[in-house]
Amino acid sequence: RFITFEGIDGSGKSTQARLLAERLPDALLTREPGGSAGAEEIRALVLNGDPGRWSAETELLLFTAARRDHLEKTIEPALAAGRTVICDRFADSTRVYQGATRGDLRATVDKLHALTIGREPDLTFIIDMDPETALARGVARPGAERRFEDFGLALQETVRHGFLSLARQFSERCIVIDGDRPAEAVAAEIAARLELAD
Ligand code: C5P
Repeated sequence: RFITFEGIDGSGKSTQARLLAERLPDALLTREPGGSAGAEEIRALVLNGDPGRWSAETELLLFTAARRDHLEKTIEPALAAGRTVICDRFADSTRVYQGATRGDLRATVDKLHALTIGREPDLTFIIDMDPETALARGVARPGAERRFEDFGLALQETVRHGFLSLARQFSERCIVIDGDRPAEAVAAEIAARLELAD
């Protein structure tokens, strides 16, 4: 089974991905951008350094190249071995960030995905939260890469609504979870949705 977590920065999705992985003995926990040696190198190219370095189109190609490597080297082998793969961000992040925050590239995102990735998760948890609450909870985590120091609340709001709209488009695999609760409460709801015993 291939399970992904999506949400705005500071929504707690990485914590939830980790908590779920801890409950599932066979789970492989991975993340994007990154998750394989090559994809981690691309992550550094995109997230560190001058934010204006790449055009929106080049950025999309870099994120997609990272995803392709991650899929080939990490995700597909684990799924083939019968493991549950839990991924912190996947193609939905690209639909929203590359597809909608630097102009409207969604049609290009969709074509590129169909041509080079062609895989959807079995299940996606969208951890939903008001950006101001997320910010107050400490988006500025120590050591976190901050490509978007001035990404701003308005853009986070765009991203939030982008994810909610994907939840409607892909309603058969997406579950929206209210992230504005203690992490244990959110984790308990996720476990319940997966019908995991206590
Ligand atoms: O989830 P994580 O905090 O590792 O993401 C790192 C940064 O990359 C975030 O600021 C996120 O907004 C950005 N990102 C992006 N496009 C993606 C995935 C992440 O711009 N497809």
